[in-house]
This record gives sequence, C-alpha cells and structure tokens, in this order.
Amino acid sequence: MDKTLLSTLRFRLAGWYRANRRALPWRRTSDPYAIWVSEVMLQQTKVETVIPYYQRFMARFPSVLDLAAADLQSVLKLWEGLGYYARARNLHRAAGQVAATHRGVLPGDHGALLNLPGIGPYIAAAVMSIAFGRPYAVVDGNVKRVLSRLFMVDAPVNRHDAYAVFERKAKTLLDPEDPGLFNQAVMELGALVCHPRQPRCVTCPVAAHCRARQAGRVEAYPRRIRKPPVPTRAAAAGVVLKDGRILIVQIPPDGLLGGLWEFPGGRVDAGESAEAACIRHIQKKTGLSVAAAERLGRIRHAYTHFKVVADLFRFEWRSGDVRLDGPVDHRWIRPDALTQYPLPKTHHKFMPLLSGLLA
Ligand code: SF4
Repeated sequence: MDKTLLSTLRFRLAGWYRANRRALPWRRTSDPYAIWVSEVMLQQTKVETVIPYYQRFMARFPSVLDLAAADLQSVLKLWEGLGYYARARNLHRAAGQVAATHRGVLPGDHGALLNLPGIGPYIAAAVMSIAFGRPYAVVDGNVKRVLSRLFMVDAPVNRHDAYAVFERKAKTLLDPEDPGLFNQAVMELGALVCHPRQPRCVTCPVAAHCRARQAGRVEAYPRRIRKPPVPTRAAAAGVVLKDGRILIVQIPPDGLLGGLWEFPGGRVDAGESAEAACIRHIQKKTGLSVAAAERLGRIRHAYTHFKVVADLFRFEWRSGDVRLDGPVDHRWIRPDALTQYPLPKTHHKFMPLLSGLLA
C-alpha cells in the first residue's frame, strides 16, 4: 500500500477516534486483566448489554486472584443472561492458570496468552495492543466490514478461510506507533459509522479513500456466503415436585450451557409427544419415576445455530432417588430459591409459567 495513503488513513482514523470514541468503562483503565475481561464479554455481545455485566464483574472480582479464588457457580451466576457460558468457564480456568503460573499477573506475551483457555487470536491481539501497546492487529466483525468496504475485499467475511485475507490487510494498516488506539479506532468506526446497513459515509473520516464508496457499491460489501436456515428443535422440560420442593440438575460442564442448572428434560423425537419425551428424559437422566403431568406452557428461544420450542410440564415424584451420570449435581429446592442458581435463558422464559408454584 502507498505510504502516503497509509499515513493518511492512520492519521484520520486516530483523529476521528480521539474526538468521537464512546466513554466506555473499560476505556478508563490500563489494567490488562480488566481489558481482558471486557474483551471476553464483548465477543458476540453488544456493548450496551456488556456494560452492567462488566461493572458487576469487576466490582466482585477486581483482580485475577479474586477471580481465581472464586467458585465457578458464583462466576456463572454473575454471567447469567450474557450467554456463551463457555466464555465464563474459560475465563475462570484461565484466571486459575494465571494465578498458578504467572503469580496473578496477566502475561504481556502473545504466545503465553494464546495458551490460556478461551484466548484466541482476537482476544490475544486486543489485549496485546490495548493493554501492552504491542503491534498486533485485531480482526473482528466490525474490522472486517470496514476493511472490506475500504479496499473492496471480495473474500466473504463469514467464510472461515477469509480470516487470513482480512488479517493481512489489518496488519498492513495497523499503526505500530499506537496499535491499541488504532485497533480501537477501526472497531469504533465499524460500530458507530460504517454500519452493516446504511453506513454514515458523509461523516466517515476515510470516505475520500474508500473504494466501495468511490465505486458507489457500499451496499455490496462486505460479501457473504449464504448459510442454510437455522433449524428449529422441539424440547420438553419437567418441573418435578416432591414434598413442596422442585428438582434442578446441573448441565454437564462441557456443553453449550455447561455448569448452569435446569429442569430435567431434553429433545422431543419425531413422532413423539412432548410429554412422553419429557418422562423419557427424566427417567433416563435422573432415574426417577414421575406421574400426573400438567402442561404449564410453551416458550421459544433462539440460539446462534438453532431455535428451540420448549414445552414445560409439572410432574409429581412417584418413586426413586436421583442418580446422575458424570460430574454433575442435583438439588431439591424450594421453588422461590430457583433464582439463586445460574439458569439458561430458556428457564428465565419459563418463570412466568411457574407462577402457581412460586406463589
Ligand atoms: S466511506 Fe462509508 S463504507 Fe467506506 S469506510 Fe466509511 S462508512 Fe464505511
């Protein structure tokens, strides 16, 4: 890339960022741990959603050592509603490793960061550049969109092998003098100006150099490959009652919602009724025999890769003691204690259906 153009783009982006950046809580700190936490939370999640979670998390776990000493359940409870719970589990595990092998200080070393659970190329580059001022270029959705339009990159942004194409562009453009500020400038431009639809090109600091704008083809970028429609799965869950208490079981640690708590249940097979599926899952997963179902209602929820339509039933415990496979736990709790446990979003949607039990 032409050197004069490169310096102009860097200069304009940095100047625009200094004047227009949002006052976000993680921008008021240079603590690598705080920056790491914010970047983990910001993956796949909107800034406005993250802010209160970040503030509560940092108030409760102000250092790596505080997080490392916490039990996973309290971390998951604070994360509840933010989704992608593997992030919380990995952050907790990584804090334990930093406490054990780096004396509680997040290492300013790219390779060492990449060795920690949950830290991939994006978070490593963000932490290295923003917290340690090292020249690593970040590539996230906002960066890809800006680069795609600025240079009319034809590689589809949602194809896995296109990452290397955008990384090369981002590395070329990166300002080695202030990589943290520069990375944030490009991401902020994508968030505030270069929107996915109807970008605000008239206010863009690099509009004069944007190839897609010059060609009148802004809406054609970024390019994407069409993905198959998201499937819908039928599921059923059961509130099992015994002596005024209800049963909750822990989700196995490695799954999508691992470590959270739920009512026993599972998928409904083709041709099977939701009630029969629920009884089948309860018997298989817990060993309990249940009777007299009442359908409490239905909820819908969309995850990234599938949608779920879930029916909720109420059952009376009939016989048996709970037997679970694997490293999971169960509790018979009073219905009003349910909110003390970290629960999946689907279970928050179940809450209005439980009003009779919670009264
Ligand atoms: S001119 Fe428009 S399309 Fe190009 S980078 Fe700026 S906001 Fe995005």
